[in-house]
Amino acid sequence: MKLEDKLFLVTFVPDSETHLSAIKQETCRTCAGKPCISGCPAACWEHEAEKNEVLVSFEGCLECGTCRIICPYHNIQWKYPRGGFGVKYKFG
Ligand code: SF4
Ligand code: SF4
Repeated sequence: MKLEDKLFLVTFVPDSETHLSAIKQETCRTCAGKPCISGCPAACWEHEAEKNEVLVSFEGCLECGTCRIICPYHNIQWKYPRGGFGVKYKFG
């Protein structure tokens, strides 16, 4: 089974507010390789070329914490979604 097919099976209860974001876009602009993009298993991070900003689609976050750990500048604000929201495998 391909990764995309596996991700399709994961269900979420999306919150209305994000639980993670890049703190300073200036830091992202000079970040070589932008590891949050390549390291996220759910492809939540992307580089928006027009504004030269790194954006995150928090709704599909698997809450693995990888981006927070691999960001070389500790430039990601990260917390779990509010109770009752987020990826559903947490709920058993
Ligand atoms: S790894 Fe950190 S500093 Fe680099 S682009 Fe991602 S959020 Fe920005
Ligand atoms: S916590 Fe994991 S799934 Fe969520 S955005 Fe970060 S790397 Fe991607």
